[in-house]
Order: sequence, then structure tokens, then C-alpha cells
Amino acid sequence: MHPWNRPQEPAELRTQRAALTRAFVKKRRATGKTPRCKWPKVRNATGELMTLQKLLAEHTGRHCNYCDNLMDYTGPKTIDHFLPKSRFPCLVYVWSNLYLCCTYCQRKGTRYNKKALRPDELGYSFSRYFRYHRDGTMSVVANDKTDQERAEITLRLLDLNDDEMVKDRRRAFMQHQVPRRRPLRAGLDSYTASLRDAVQRPSFEDKPFRDFFSQEQES
Ligand SMILES: [Zn+2]
Repeated sequence: MHPWNRPQEPAELRTQRAALTRAFVKKRRATGKTPRCKWPKVRNATGELMTLQKLLAEHTGRHCNYCDNLMDYTGPKTIDHFLPKSRFPCLVYVWSNLYLCCTYCQRKGTRYNKKALRPDELGYSFSRYFRYHRDGTMSVVANDKTDQERAEITLRLLDLNDDEMVKDRRRAFMQHQVPRRRPLRAGLDSYTASLRDAVQRPSFEDKPFRDFFSQEQES
């Protein structure tokens, strides 16, 4: 879970929230089932009209808000309600309850825990709570008892050590490992060498599981 600065609520959501929520609650009462959301089209900072999923993806760099994997690998972009819409219908269109989520993390379904970590909460950083390992697993490293409890709850809720996720991480780490700096070959000037390195290394934002690579950069 990579820290995230939540952008401002799109105006289209803000102005339609009350009416959309009323319609949601009414339909839920009438059918006895949790209806699907009707997300309004929203405009990004440059005025382009788009789906809410796409707008969120622009702000997360196409990474899932929870597991941080690149959405290109994990199927369609979905919007998750941190507090599920089936239990908290009044929060169904509340901006601070919405996160971009991959199909892996959506498997949590209607399970929730108010103590789970949020990537946009004040003071959140990956290294305060978690650590990635080269075998693809992740573990809790929080020192403080409350931090530890919240990290463990989050790990379990999102099933972040699920077999598929672990396999995905291991593959990503192998593919995107920063190559060890090799000595320059005779005849290869430093400019050509830097171009070679740029081609070999995807940008930080394009790497799956950015926190793993930021740990690499630190160490
Ligand atoms: Zn995810």
C-alpha cells in the first residue's frame, strides 16, 4: 500500500452526491438488494470528461490503492468502498470512502474493519507498517502495538500474502530488478551508457509495488 494524496473531490460527484445517494437507498429498500453504483462522469484538472475510475487511476499512476500492483497486470479498475455500501449506504458516494482497487483486492467483498489502514491517512507510510521480502511475501514491521494491530488487520483483510499476489510480486521483482552497474565497456561512452540504463530501467512510477523499489533505493 503506497501512500496517496487524495485529490480534491470532483465537482460532478459533489453536486450529484445527495441525489445519487437518495436513489441508491430508495432502490435498496425497494428491492432488498444492494444496487450497483451509478458513477457520474467527472472532469480531470485539464477539463477532460472521464469515468471516475480513470480519474482515480490518473492520480494513483494506475496502481491499486491497496496492494499497489499496476492495474495493467490485475484486470479492470474498480472502485472500492472502504466501508462497504451494503453496510453503510449513506457513504456510498462519499469521496473519502472511495479507493481505486484491483480485482485481487476486491475479493474482500463486504468484509471491512474500521481499524484497517488507509493509504491516504495522515502519517501513513509503507515502511512504518510493512516490509517486502524478495520471495514476494510481505510482513508487519510496526514497533508500536496499535500500529502492529492495524497492519495485521490490513494484511488479513486484503489477503496481501495470498499465493497469487506473492507470485506476482516475485515475478515483478525479478523482472524489474535494477541491474548492477557494470563497468563501461571500451568504446561505450558515458552518454550511451546512460541511455542504455534508461531503457533497461522502467520509471519508478511504472514499477509494480513501488514500495519495494523505494526500499531498494534506500538500501
Ligand atoms: Zn490490489
